[in-house]
Amino acid sequence: MTQQDTARTAAIAPRHMPGSFSIGKVAGIDIAIHYTWLFAVALIAWSLAAGYYPTDVPGLGATTYWLIGLLSAVLLFASVLAHELTHSLVARMRGIRVERITLFIFGGVSNLATEPTKPSDEFLISVVGPLSSLVLAGVFWVIAQALPEPGPAGAVASYLALVNLLLGAFNLIPGFPLDGGRVFRSLVWGATGSLRRATLLASYSGQAFGWLLILWGLLRLLTGDAFGGLWTAFIGWFLNGAAESARRDQSLDESLRGVPVSRLMDANPGQAATNMSVRDFVFQDVMDAGHRAVPVMSDGQLVGIVSMTDARRLPGEAWPSTSVEQIMTRAPLVTISPEDDLAAAIRLMAQKGLHQLPVVENGQLLGMISREDVLRFLQLRQELGAHRVERQAVRLVLAVVLLATPVGNAAAQPATCSFMLGFAALHTAIPNI
Ligand SMILES: [Zn+2]
Repeated sequence: MTQQDTARTAAIAPRHMPGSFSIGKVAGIDIAIHYTWLFAVALIAWSLAAGYYPTDVPGLGATTYWLIGLLSAVLLFASVLAHELTHSLVARMRGIRVERITLFIFGGVSNLATEPTKPSDEFLISVVGPLSSLVLAGVFWVIAQALPEPGPAGAVASYLALVNLLLGAFNLIPGFPLDGGRVFRSLVWGATGSLRRATLLASYSGQAFGWLLILWGLLRLLTGDAFGGLWTAFIGWFLNGAAESARRDQSLDESLRGVPVSRLMDANPGQAATNMSVRDFVFQDVMDAGHRAVPVMSDGQLVGIVSMTDARRLPGEAWPSTSVEQIMTRAPLVTISPEDDLAAAIRLMAQKGLHQLPVVENGQLLGMISREDVLRFLQLRQELGAHRVERQAVRLVLAVVLLATPVGNAAAQPATCSFMLGFAALHTAIPNI
């Protein structure tokens, strides 16, 4: 892989959960596993082998319990993957690009490139997940009936029927970010025409549900069920945080909506010729002029963009002898129009993991807009007291997070369908744990 390829790949790589690795593709969708998933498989296999199966089908050997425990854990995640695939395939049918599906400790996450723009789309994309789990529960139940009871194969099928039923039911709870919360939001959105009001309602109900789980977990902890209690509280805490961040995203979105990119862009972003050396770029454009990245022009045409990040990948000795053309990210670039608003700009930068965007109209470069420009705008708004300080502080915190971490917690992103395993519910069904 050449320098240019490395730079380009880094510039266009979609955001994903750090610590996850790709295991292949299904129907053209990238499937990834987060390292916490391995912990979940081990935990489920252990709890099934040590507690559930010895009670459910007594008299088998320890090795058999471990084998069917492990098989069940893997099939459970295959069910989760099927659930996520239905979300992703319906999303794709509605014209939304799917970045990837990641399996992690709480289940699976479908990363969609954009949010649905119509209530009907959000309804369909969300509702198929729990429905697919319920259908799987039915299929495994039929298989269990057909198999001789009591036996290990029948026990595994019964377990998968039960757990898919719980997955379907848990995810239908009407609190954001669960599927049921999205279904609820799409219904309110469709009825009122206000995405804002719908998001607020769904996120408050999601937070309330999160608090209930935390309380229930603490109660279980106090009554001696340490593991189940902690796990329940942990899931509640995760749900609560995800619901809250959905509301903050909405709030940030509001203060940036309607403000055109042209008002904030740097109309004199500097420029580099293709044959300029990396050394000159670093000393003139970065250190003297204070640009983080500049457009690269050839015959008046925008042919690429070169940034300090590109230069850093090259050893300092090579700077004088390397041209910016060799390290730049080449056209076609991700660009934005001057009439687009700041909300669209920050979303695009977050999606693509970029720090700045060229502002282009009719093929002509008009300027550049960066995350720093947007942050300064938010700070200025705060100083002018345009909004209540408290709300603004929330936005600033989020903006700082956006600046600092292009790759954030995938489960808390707006364009993410988050999906919980509902281990808490599962554990109430397991004796001796
Ligand atoms: Zn789902």
